[in-house]
Amino acid sequence: MITLRPNIAEMAGYVPGYQPEDVETYIKLNTNENAYPPSPRVIEAIVREAGDGLRRYPDASSRLAREEAGKLYGFDPSWIIMANGSDEVLNNLIRAFAGEGEEIGYVHPSYSYYGTLAHVQGARVRTFGLNEQFEPVGIPADYPGRIFFLTNPNAPLGFTYSQRYIAELAGKLSGMLVIDETYADFAEENSLDLVRSLENVVVTRTFSKSYSLAGMRVGMAIARPEVIAALNKIRDHYNLDRLAQAAAVAALRDQEYFLSCVGKIRAARAWFSAELEKLRYQVIPSSGNYVFATPPDRDGARVYQGLYDRRILVRHFTDPVLSHGLRITIGTMEEMERTVQALREIGP
Ligand code: PMP
Repeated sequence: MITLRPNIAEMAGYVPGYQPEDVETYIKLNTNENAYPPSPRVIEAIVREAGDGLRRYPDASSRLAREEAGKLYGFDPSWIIMANGSDEVLNNLIRAFAGEGEEIGYVHPSYSYYGTLAHVQGARVRTFGLNEQFEPVGIPADYPGRIFFLTNPNAPLGFTYSQRYIAELAGKLSGMLVIDETYADFAEENSLDLVRSLENVVVTRTFSKSYSLAGMRVGMAIARPEVIAALNKIRDHYNLDRLAQAAAVAALRDQEYFLSCVGKIRAARAWFSAELEKLRYQVIPSSGNYVFATPPDRDGARVYQGLYDRRILVRHFTDPVLSHGLRITIGTMEEMERTVQALREIGP
């Protein structure tokens, strides 16, 4: 007889976005990957690292990557922890702060994986909906949850919260505010200043989107040294392998390449959003590398199928608060032109 912990037996696992085997035959706009390859310097660094040195364990603290990130963002490396994808550090934040039976909160819709991670831990989950102004509704003054996760820019909707709103929210929480900045490099603002000024704020980042390294699994958190020290106790001691560390360092050093890719994606986002509006789609102004758009008949499934039939993959969520629309990753200009053409064929 196999006896699982009841919370594991009862939970549904997280289902990641679809990764088709014949991926090259699609325009793939369903998992917010970067439209451009990693920097050539990143590839060189990985190849350089892929030698005899692999016999040796990697640096357990990812020191060089933390130093490089610290220089870029203006933090002492003691404020930074590297992670095996930001998913790892989200998980470890829950393990650090939310014990069995304690509560974590987040906005619905945002990243439902916070809920999955909490269930593994045996923590309770409370979600808060959004009003018409995209403000979370009903967060009590003095919210007792151990962590509140705020995805900023919001995924899948793409809007951002103002820094003022975020600072106010941090003040309402008795626990930690984790600002998931997976998409912040595509936005105008970020909350790194709040990490400096407010004790209970943590920012998480990833290399999966803006640095084109989803396949490498590199993320990080920036927080006060006490928080980083706690996360260091919890993580796998060799959480980043040598290749991932080399890739992270090279990616951070090549800011010119990074900025040029982010710039192209922002330009394509503006063009694509305007084209969608011409097709009478409702488009939420986006600060991420994706847009959430609703066709005039509010039948997201129909348009998803029409695009799929033309080998264009986007994300349709069956969740009733999202099923009217689609989340479409911003690809290259050519991919977005072909998507607009397909949407014209599919019709409103
Ligand atoms: N947060 C959000 C909002 C995301 O969309 C994702 C990935 N899709 C992640 C975190 C995790 O990213 P990764 O583990 O690749 O760093």
